[in-house]
Amino acid sequence: MQAVILSIGDELVLGQTIDTNSAFLAQQLTSLGFSVLYHQTVADDQSAIAAAFVQACRAAPLVIATGGLGPTEDDLTRQGLADALGVSLVLDEASLSEIESFFTRRGRAMVAGNRIQAMHPVGSQMLANHTGTAPGIRAALHGTTIFVVPGVPREMIALWERHIRPELAQNPGARNVILTAKINTFGLGESDLAARLGDLMDRARNPKVGTTVSAGVVSARVRSEFPTAAEAHAHMDQTLHAIAQILGPFVYSRDDVTLQEELLKLLRQTGQKIATAESCTGGLLSAMLTDVPGASDCFLGGWVTYANQLKQSQLDIPPDILDRHGAVSSQTAHAMAHAALVKSDADAALSITGIAGPDGGTDEKPVGTVWVGLAVKNSGAVNVHTYRLALTGDRPIIRDRAAKTALQILRFHLLGAPIEQITWLKLK
Ligand code: AMP
Ligand code: MG
Repeated sequence: MQAVILSIGDELVLGQTIDTNSAFLAQQLTSLGFSVLYHQTVADDQSAIAAAFVQACRAAPLVIATGGLGPTEDDLTRQGLADALGVSLVLDEASLSEIESFFTRRGRAMVAGNRIQAMHPVGSQMLANHTGTAPGIRAALHGTTIFVVPGVPREMIALWERHIRPELAQNPGARNVILTAKINTFGLGESDLAARLGDLMDRARNPKVGTTVSAGVVSARVRSEFPTAAEAHAHMDQTLHAIAQILGPFVYSRDDVTLQEELLKLLRQTGQKIATAESCTGGLLSAMLTDVPGASDCFLGGWVTYANQLKQSQLDIPPDILDRHGAVSSQTAHAMAHAALVKSDADAALSITGIAGPDGGTDEKPVGTVWVGLAVKNSGAVNVHTYRLALTGDRPIIRDRAAKTALQILRFHLLGAPIEQITWLKLK
């Protein structure tokens, strides 16, 4: 069954307040088996509000609107709703005395303006609000059920929990079960990932597969809709498995689990410890690792050697390497990773040195050139590999992608996957 969500308020269309109500309601409706067709944000404009209700009622059998039920001149949702229904507003005595007692309990007198909050379109019902003054409204138009609740998120949630969810949860047999999941990858571009998924991304497919990108993480989103939970789960599992097969080691987690959490889990499983040596990321890599509670099991610590002076004094990088090859070079990344491993006695060490910009780039080493070093113990000896990344973006993006790529490089190493597959590695 489809649903439409309306958010009403000038502050929302102006971009001053972020519409969090729609996100909340969309997630709740989806989990109840409703299919949300669209969200619409409307200004505090009576005729625009009325038009939005009429259109939404044509589009879906359920409409939920938030905002514009306040006591002030600019709150026009109840008037807009009455226009859409083609009726006038009437006073609800019970609501009026509830609003009056809300003020009495707080030792204040009710302002005349609050009287409008006890009014509702003829034929609609009031939904009592115990956390604020504005009751919600339940109405119907051409077979569509309409719920209108205040915009204050706390009150909106209270009315959802008290009135709307219990009603919608009745008779779920009439609706499909909808499950959603996300598979996260790092190291592939979005179009590359989409091309690999091929037919799985067919729009008519159920479960439906889409992609999203956030901070370099490319995710496959999956939505499985079936009459029963058993079918929805079975098809979801099948699709997630198919995606994981195709994307292989690029996949590091489901839903909200981060790359560093997964990497630390792998290290813990294999009983290994790591250390870091960072230049252009200035500690970002170790900050990401220590974001995870309990990281000390596997993360020993690291060095932030930003200036050459400290690379020499703390990590014993020979001046000769810095003079001949520069701080951003395979040789420096190699020496940093080697020193971090030996000095910390970890099982693996990551180093990062690069040009994060906006200045400092040359033709030979443009902004975004980053070297990652990976040192690992190998039966008493130390093996070091270096990888050249060609990153694009501004300074924060380059630093973020460099740190995440280092994490993914170590993860690929632990899994025995070919590191050269990572898209932004430039082969030497
Ligand atoms: P209203 O019910 O229109 O009087 O809204 C009261 C307050 O709730 C507004 O000033 C906003 O701060 C907040 N609000 C309204 N709509 C939303 C929304 N969709 N998402 C988050 N906050 C909202
Ligand atoms: Mg408002």
